[in-house]
Parts: sequence; C-alpha cells; structure tokens
Amino acid sequence: MSAELQNHLADEVAIQITNMNKWYGDFHVLRDINLTVQRGERIVIAGPSGSGKSTMIRCINRLEEHQKGQIVVDGTELSSDLKNIDKIRREVGMCFQHFNLFPHLTILENCTLAPMWVRKTPKKEAEELAMHFLEKVKIPDQANKYPGMLSGGQQQRVAIARSLCMQPRIMLFDEPTSALDPEMIKEVLDTMVTLADEGMTMLCVTHEMGFARQVADRVIFMDQGQIVEQNEPEEFFNNPKSDRTKLFLSQIL
Ligand code: ADP
Ligand code: MG
Repeated sequence: MSAELQNHLADEVAIQITNMNKWYGDFHVLRDINLTVQRGERIVIAGPSGSGKSTMIRCINRLEEHQKGQIVVDGTELSSDLKNIDKIRREVGMCFQHFNLFPHLTILENCTLAPMWVRKTPKKEAEELAMHFLEKVKIPDQANKYPGMLSGGQQQRVAIARSLCMQPRIMLFDEPTSALDPEMIKEVLDTMVTLADEGMTMLCVTHEMGFARQVADRVIFMDQGQIVEQNEPEEFFNNPKSDRTKLFLSQIL
C-alpha cells in the first residue's frame, strides 16, 4: 500500500480501539474491546446497566485509564503521555447525563470559558462562537441567564453548545437525556440529530432506541464488559443474533 493511501485511510478512521482491557482493582470491567469508528460515523451504544458503556466512553478521552490494548483517537495513541491526552481532549467533546454547568457563570460565560482559557481565543471571538452554537441549539435568547434559571432540557442543550465551542471532531454522549423529564427529551435529541446530519462523528450511549433507528449507522450492544453484537439498526432491532441482545431488547422495546 502506498504511503499516501495509508495516510488517507488513517484519516478516515476517527477512533481505533484494539484489544482494550480495563480493570477497576481486581474487577475486569472491559474485556478485549475492538472497535473502529470511521470519520462521520454515528454509533449508538446500548446495553444493560453495569455493562461497561460509560467506562468505555470515558476511556476514549482518558477520564478513565485502560490497562491493556490500544486506543488511537484521530491518529494519536492514548498513553500516559500528557501531551497526547491534552491533544485528544481538545478534539473530543463530551456530554454527560448531568450537565455540570458552572452555576455561578452565565450561559454565555459557560460557553466561552474553555475556548478563552484552553484555546486562548480572544474574548470577542469566543463570544461570537458561543452565540453561533447557542443559536444552533436554539437558545441564543438565554445567553445572559444563569443555568439555574433554565429547564433541564435547555441546560443540556447549553452543555452541548459548550462542548461544540471547543470545535471537537468527535462527540461522546453518555445518556444525555436520562435525567430529563419526558417532554424535554425530544428537544435534546433534535439537537443531536442536527449534529448527526452535519456529519459529526458521534458515539452515544442512550436508551432512546427511536434515536438509534433514526440516526445510527451502527448499534453496538455491550454486556458484562464485552461488545456482544453490533449491526446496522434495522438488523440489530429486527434480527438480533445473541440471546443476550434478544433479552435486552425484549425488556426495553
Ligand atoms: P454502564 O455505563 O454500562 O452502566 P459502567 O461503565 O458505569 O456501566 O460500570 C461498569 C461496571 O464497573 C459496573 O459494575 C460498575 O459498578 C463498575 N464501576 C464503574 N465505575 C467504577 C469505579 N470507579 N470503581 C469501581 N467499579 C466501578
Ligand atoms: Mg453508564
């Protein structure tokens, strides 16, 4: 293979996880995880509580450390090298169940903080960028309020906008709608659909199977620290292969 072609192929791969294992003390939480995510691919990760979904997502930006195997994000391998960790965190945005906005900062300040302090973006430019993404998540009118004045759904959309202000190439979502009242789930999912439509590389842990059907290129099913099965949504839902997947689907659908 020519070097040029190899580079091209490497650029098409956003995340490459190879034989990755993780332990919490003696507890073997992730077992031989292998996963290749293409650039622009949208992946939904499903599975029972405790199966290791959050741990896997958190290993990808080194909120948790893996002990064996390899994780390569955007061509950079995650090791104990702090430079690499910094580089990867700058390219990978993350959105959690609990939005963790800074309560004493306005919505706008929540969004400009990291670009100004981490990326050294000038204030005016950071504010323009923040307003751009607050418009994208459809709450520019809330910019000068404090998080406590917003609904849960609005706060989660701010959290997404805040991540986008760092202009990540990959977004990780860990149950972003699980803490929301039902009427607010749709507005957050709509925001995620917009991102997906724009070609963002996304890994989403979610129980929203309607979202999975609508946007996922691939659904990954985890159980007991392993990837048990993966398929495109239609096949995954209509024709699950393993008994564990069938049992899981029968419980949630
Ligand atoms: P999921 O997100 O699929 O519910 P998690 O990745 O949160 O699963 O957890 C996987 C397993 O690891 C669970 O058994 C959980 O109790 C355990 N676990 C999670 N975090 C820690 C931790 N910091 N220390 C020890 N065990 C943990
Ligand atoms: Mg979890």
